[in-house]
Amino acid sequence: MVAADDGEEGALPMQAAIISRTGTISVGEIPDPEPGLGQVVVRVRACGVCEVDLLIADGEFASASYPVVPGHEFSGEIVELGPAVPRHWRVGDRVAVDPALPCGHCAACRSNNATECGQRGAIGESVNGAFAEYVAVPAANCYRLPALMTWEQGAMTEPASRALMGVRRFGVVAGQRSLVVGANATGLLVLQAQRLSGIDVSIVDPDPGLLALAMDLGANPISTDIAEVSGGKFDVVIDCTGDPEGMEGAFDAVHTDGRLLLFGTPHAGARTQLSRVPFNEQEAGVNHSMAVLNNFGLAMGLIESGAIQTDPLLTHALPLEEFDEALMLISGGIGLKLQVLPDFEVLTAEQLTEFGGPDV
Ligand SMILES: [Zn+2]
Ligand SMILES: [Zn+2]
Repeated sequence: MVAADDGEEGALPMQAAIISRTGTISVGEIPDPEPGLGQVVVRVRACGVCEVDLLIADGEFASASYPVVPGHEFSGEIVELGPAVPRHWRVGDRVAVDPALPCGHCAACRSNNATECGQRGAIGESVNGAFAEYVAVPAANCYRLPALMTWEQGAMTEPASRALMGVRRFGVVAGQRSLVVGANATGLLVLQAQRLSGIDVSIVDPDPGLLALAMDLGANPISTDIAEVSGGKFDVVIDCTGDPEGMEGAFDAVHTDGRLLLFGTPHAGARTQLSRVPFNEQEAGVNHSMAVLNNFGLAMGLIESGAIQTDPLLTHALPLEEFDEALMLISGGIGLKLQVLPDFEVLTAEQLTEFGGPDV
């Protein structure tokens, strides 16, 4: 049991958002999670919503195991320790959790390349995640939150680590030019991760308000129209929209020996027109990047130092009961980063207005 406050034994019910195989979403009661060997139970304080949750809800995410409680971008407080948890973890510790669950014993895992693990699962995809009051996770996946880091910042570690991974895969060097397509939450994290490498980052998005924020975060130049970004083709182009139009624009903008990263999350029905891509004239490399492995602690440090700013990206906080609404907002492209706060009801209005970011 995890409700340490009341001292009762047995699996008590908790609130959780559940997605069934049919794609139906409900918020209801399921038993409190029990910590397995090497696991801790985390009381969830903040959990970000992203396009992956939308794919899981739509039944379009191949590696999801239904029914599932989604939620893979989260922070919280350890409330129970399972057997064989290392002694440095204590009840009350504040943590963010790397959701990646590589098998740990296949050839890829043993050669420190768990991204290639064929049996790789993830919290919130193959096992229950954090759109719930409590979640059981391996202690090995927990990273201690720095003292001054908020729950909300802690929950941004996962998307920030993903952005870092994408950027690190390129091996970009100072002086190169990059274009980010889409000033959404992913695009603004990718922008900041690239700026750390000393490269010039342009960003394109139809929303002038988001472009202003992108400029504050280091983008230059910016444009509402990909055709109007000056200076010729780019060494690196990163599509963060997942839209066919964005991806085709990205194809057009990359230098013939440049690198293209498709970093958006296209829906199953998304189609791009490959005939627009002059493959025979190009040596451009095309990448996708998803894994957060080995970057989680680094991302947390960059958020702590302010080198990657996440507060301006947090536009919406919702209670768990409104998970459905959160998915609708994401699907409608409303806001930047939405987070579900299971303690929403007990937070003061003042705390909630601390959610910064532009009115988008
Ligand atoms: Zn995500
Ligand atoms: Zn493996």
